[in-house]
Amino acid sequence: MGNDDIIDFREDLPTASNYLRMAVPLMVQRRIPPTPYNYALWYAHVQNAHPELSRKLLAAFPDEDSYDPRKSEALFLEYFVKHYLPQSTQAQELIATLVAQLAQAVSRNLQGVHNYGASLRGAIEVFEQDVDPHQIRAMVGKLLTETRDLEELNQVFASKLKAASDQVEQLKRELAESERRARIDPLTKIPNRRGFDEAIAQALTADNETTCLLLLDIDYFKKLNDTYGHPMGDRVLQIVGGVLGKLQSDRIFIARYGGEEFAVIVNDELEAAHALAEQIRCQIAALQIKRKSTHDTIGTITVSIGLTRFRPGESAETFIERADTGLYLAKQEGRNRVIIA
Ligand code: GH3
Ligand code: MG
Ligand code: MG
Repeated sequence: MGNDDIIDFREDLPTASNYLRMAVPLMVQRRIPPTPYNYALWYAHVQNAHPELSRKLLAAFPDEDSYDPRKSEALFLEYFVKHYLPQSTQAQELIATLVAQLAQAVSRNLQGVHNYGASLRGAIEVFEQDVDPHQIRAMVGKLLTETRDLEELNQVFASKLKAASDQVEQLKRELAESERRARIDPLTKIPNRRGFDEAIAQALTADNETTCLLLLDIDYFKKLNDTYGHPMGDRVLQIVGGVLGKLQSDRIFIARYGGEEFAVIVNDELEAAHALAEQIRCQIAALQIKRKSTHDTIGTITVSIGLTRFRPGESAETFIERADTGLYLAKQEGRNRVIIA
């Protein structure tokens, strides 16, 4: 056997829960069924109870395709069962076989445990003379009691694992939600620069059709802020974000690129992207922006747009820079216009 230190599981509730939290993801990663003996092995592993067991466990189950119930069973027998058996090799083997059946039965169903109990009772008769019958009888009697305990334990394990997996699910949802939030601009509720960076990388690697890019900047926005105040400026950003947000589709991705600049990725030909740019420009110029309090019209706002088409082989940076050149020219040539670069 070679291992004299007996692994014990006498932690208090918080410590044990902690081990559970550590063990479950390792098992999930490797697609190890949460049966009691698997759980005992991985619990002992995170508990760091037995370096040799940990080493063998990790070697036996390095990845998600390596699960083999026979290997689990062998490790379980070696580290948990044999310790408690009498010193006779023959008795050990017999009981080891019975316990292996027990482990299988427990993991299959609880009815199996009752069957195991019955087979244990029958097994008392088959022991040979040279094994101390009192010792074996006592051992088997103990195992019978423990069969009932195991039945209960199995239910406890199952409900603990259910709670742990619920917790893991909840954490996954929270993670997905916070990842989603990290890509959304809180003011305009459309994707932010981070969302844009990912979307453009995706559009350029998808090697589908043509990709075009619009960079859009609100004209004289500083003046609007200065004249009507920053909150009014924010409201205008929300309105423009709202107009653009409605255009979002499987071909069109929109984002707040920064400040009062927006970006639109169009997975379509230049002509279609140009038509879209003109549509956006006209739609925004037609808006009547009013003060919330007094309903006074504060006039109109306009945008300048730089447009370009992706050239196969170029980097996203070069692509964006060219759209920016178009935007710069649109400003220079008087604003409220679309320039193709
Ligand atoms: P141009 O026509 O050349 O684009 O002129 P502009 O005034 O729009 O350009 P400029 O880049 O000088 O000014 C952009 C302004 O946008 C400056 C900044 O205070 C304002 N701004 C940036 N982010 C926000 C924001 O979240 N809210 C508000 N209200 N203003 C913002
Ligand atoms: Mg600007
Ligand atoms: Mg501007």
